[in-house]
Amino acid sequence: MTEWPIGVFTSVDAGLGVKLEVAQELGIPTIQLHAPHRSTRTPESAERFLSKLEELGIQLTCVFGGFEGESYADIPTVSKTVGLVPQETRAARLQEMKEISDFARLLGCDVIGLHLGFVPHDTTAPLYQEILDVTRLLCDHAGVNDQAVHLETGQETADALLQFIGDTKRDNLFINFDPANMILYGTGEPIEALQKVGKYVRSVHCKDAKWSSQPGVTWGQEMPLGQGQVDIAKYLQTLHEIGYHGPLTIEREIPQEPDRQKAEIGHASQLLSEIRAKILG
Ligand code: MG
Repeated sequence: MTEWPIGVFTSVDAGLGVKLEVAQELGIPTIQLHAPHRSTRTPESAERFLSKLEELGIQLTCVFGGFEGESYADIPTVSKTVGLVPQETRAARLQEMKEISDFARLLGCDVIGLHLGFVPHDTTAPLYQEILDVTRLLCDHAGVNDQAVHLETGQETADALLQFIGDTKRDNLFINFDPANMILYGTGEPIEALQKVGKYVRSVHCKDAKWSSQPGVTWGQEMPLGQGQVDIAKYLQTLHEIGYHGPLTIEREIPQEPDRQKAEIGHASQLLSEIRAKILG
């Protein structure tokens, strides 16, 4: 893979990504895939999907897990419903995430990603230990499949994330850095955060956002790439400085407006290519 191939977040039958065809039409060579529904995660559909990727000349770089019942409606709802943190659904979701890992293996993909949920900041809290335990179980399962686990950023500050990854003590646990999420959740200035967690960053989202007037209380606003407050040129410059060479995966979650979504992803791809050319020469 050449340095910094453009990528896009895609979905088959679940999640907010674009269809595979959009990547092809826009000439985008890599994708992350939102894991499809359980009924689709069969060896047969993996084979079909793989031959489609081959036909389109697209490379799969990460399979992202997501779960029934998750809602990103507002920040308190995220805290109650997202990831492996909510206690009522934790065991079932761990099991499902293991199945997603197995499906990703069928797709020949060595990275799975997820939003873990809001990890408690008090490292002496029983819940903190429980989240360490469930994360270790997931990492160990992924390890058997020769996979790394990438945690999506946003719900924790950079310092909290470093602490958590260190405490997990697993060598296949890394970060999928999303600069817009830092702004949307109000968890820190994204460039500064990226510099802090740089050594763990193994995949990224290229997404933009504006700060809320009450950061951490209400959502910021997701924006087309280049129109928010991330500073995309500085973002890529910083990725260069931390030695990140992987895909630049565009994420734009407005599936209710597919035409606009496609157009904005096209613009984002162009913008990233221009900045890439300036930085890499
Ligand atoms: Mg993201």
